[in-house]
Amino acid sequence: MSKNPWKGYTIDSPDDIDDTSTGITTRFGCLYHTSHLSDALRIVEDRKISANLVRDKSLLNETRLCVVWTSPNTWYHGSMYGNVGFKVDFDEFLLGKYMYWVEIMKAYNPDAIRLVVSESKLSVDLPRIHPRKFGYPLYCDEDEQWFRLDKYNYEIMLTQDVRIATCSRIEFFDHHQSLCNKYSSRCSDLGMEDSTAREKFVAFTVSRIDKIVAMKLFPENKERDRQGPVTYSCNALLRWICKTSAEEKEARDRDTSYHLIRSALYYYSVDEDKIATACIRAIGNEKRAVRSLLAVVKKTFGEHISERLKEYYKRIKDKDFYR
Ligand SMILES: [Zn+2]
Repeated sequence: MSKNPWKGYTIDSPDDIDDTSTGITTRFGCLYHTSHLSDALRIVEDRKISANLVRDKSLLNETRLCVVWTSPNTWYHGSMYGNVGFKVDFDEFLLGKYMYWVEIMKAYNPDAIRLVVSESKLSVDLPRIHPRKFGYPLYCDEDEQWFRLDKYNYEIMLTQDVRIATCSRIEFFDHHQSLCNKYSSRCSDLGMEDSTAREKFVAFTVSRIDKIVAMKLFPENKERDRQGPVTYSCNALLRWICKTSAEEKEARDRDTSYHLIRSALYYYSVDEDKIATACIRAIGNEKRAVRSLLAVVKKTFGEHISERLKEYYKRIKDKDFYR
């Protein structure tokens, strides 16, 4: 690797970080790990963003280095990485850490500058960069103000798990209409608006009564904003529940009990017994509940298994179940 592989991608002098200059650099104060909604819900369950092996085209995919991808980028036309942004505590993950140059990705538009930040020295052979000095792609002044080149994307990889508790906030972005870094054109979240993703995420948070995550949905340094996005999301959920209640004239019909059984099984599997029990009781009677269980089992494992289950039920009840 050349001695100075970041040549052409550097902040060179105080003039470059002068606010009155022609916009060579941008001040930045946060990094986001952005993920798809389904991955974000898993992160919440895991209580951390797990560092993983690098799998895309990168110098690092031949190493065993595990990283969490973060970026200070913002998107004018929607994110290509999903709707949910976990805002990583800047001071904890950048200040005083070892920083390395990885590569420049010219296949991206604009070019993406890739860096690795680590708490300890890496055994991987990468050149170090020193953001306290000029001549590197990042610059940090004596007031701890960080600057990056305005023209390029930055991908900053952290070599450790990021615990949810240390994220300062969770924010939401629009997903790009047609581009997705993870699933390309097969992505089911293409074009999903930030408000839709937030609504689903809030539903998940409320279903778990997850107070730690709830705190991260409010703006920083402010008392809880009664008219903020969380309120809008809760309003949307209320409208959804009212609409659904109005539509369900026969609240205990076959479809409803089928879905309630699925919910019951899900909550039973994750040890939320009270919710599981409530779902089963909402079905109203045992025969309907069992009929729904048979239908779900049939769909999952096939008729031969559901028939055996039906016979078993008949045996334990000793009466004709299906008239
Ligand atoms: Zn996507």
